[in-house]
Amino acid sequence: MVRKSLAEWKKKLTPEQFDITRRKGTERAFTGEYWDHHEEGRDVCVCCGNELFSSETKFDSGSGWPSFWEPIQAQTVTTAQDTSHFMHRTEVLCNRCGAHLGHVFEDGPKPTGLRYCINSARMRFVKRTSNR
Ligand code: FE
Repeated sequence: MVRKSLAEWKKKLTPEQFDITRRKGTERAFTGEYWDHHEEGRDVCVCCGNELFSSETKFDSGSGWPSFWEPIQAQTVTTAQDTSHFMHRTEVLCNRCGAHLGHVFEDGPKPTGLRYCINSARMRFVKRTSNR
């Protein structure tokens, strides 16, 4: 587990990264760096470096946010019930540092039927290299 105070996270992150990961913010649809990004590689937590999602499970959801049907490993993320904004949603968090990542919905493609709707601003993309 990675634990830091809010003041420490603030120093380490950009204002947008801080707002999303530590204050459960959401970037506006179609504005993030990675919603229309199709390189092969892995999506790493901007806070703690935990490998979260792979381009192999990314799909075009039309939502304007990067969307995946599965995390790299089930235990890399945790979920929590989110009842803010008068909605019942399932929040997705980094299992290592507790960063807010986005939400998961049950309208995704096969094989999981899940749609992990993830903010670009909380990811760091690591391009796949040939020895991986
Ligand atoms: Fe993390």
